[in-house]
Amino acid sequence: MTFQYTHNLVSDLPTPRKQVLLLTCMDLRLLDNTVAFMNEYNLANRYDQLAFAGASLGVMHCSSPPYEEGSKGRRSSWKDVFFHHLDVAINDLQRNIKDIFIMEHRDCGAYEQFHPTHNFAYGDDQAEQALEEMHHREQAFAFADEIAEFGQRQLREAEKALKKGKDHHDPWEAERRVRAWRGLRSHCFLMDLRGEVKHLCR
Ligand SMILES: [Zn+2]
Repeated sequence: MTFQYTHNLVSDLPTPRKQVLLLTCMDLRLLDNTVAFMNEYNLANRYDQLAFAGASLGVMHCSSPPYEEGSKGRRSSWKDVFFHHLDVAINDLQRNIKDIFIMEHRDCGAYEQFHPTHNFAYGDDQAEQALEEMHHREQAFAFADEIAEFGQRQLREAEKALKKGKDHHDPWEAERRVRAWRGLRSHCFLMDLRGEVKHLCR
């Protein structure tokens, strides 16, 4: 299948050379645009994708009740779920992830639901658009910071394990994990409903 209706190469973002973890909203309107965007970066079948309502906002602030009816178990934080997946992807599935894409989108129902002051009619009003974008920037950058902290923590743990383990059961694996957690970067984007993407830079 070819996608020809978006041209979203962001000039200041070099094409990732390794694998990517993509965080998106669950929004059904932008599935094909998201695939098209990734394909344009030559990333077809080179990324794992996690979808949470509200992308960074949802991951940072939402949690789910226990699935079992009548269960008094604790709620599951989406942040725990996200970071557990990242951990599994790199440590267990041995993904070579160096870039994490945080893909926000305009007219996000989850933002309207979960953000205290986010309520805009989708349109061309410049002031509203600027505010909408600002909310996405705040959430996406805050989450990018959390990813960086998590990556640093994992790196320190991997280095500790490597140092401790002269007789580690698998020294190659200990070394691989140190390399794997080094140099993790996040990139933030905002997609509109036509699938056009803006690279959000600080
Ligand atoms: Zn959304």
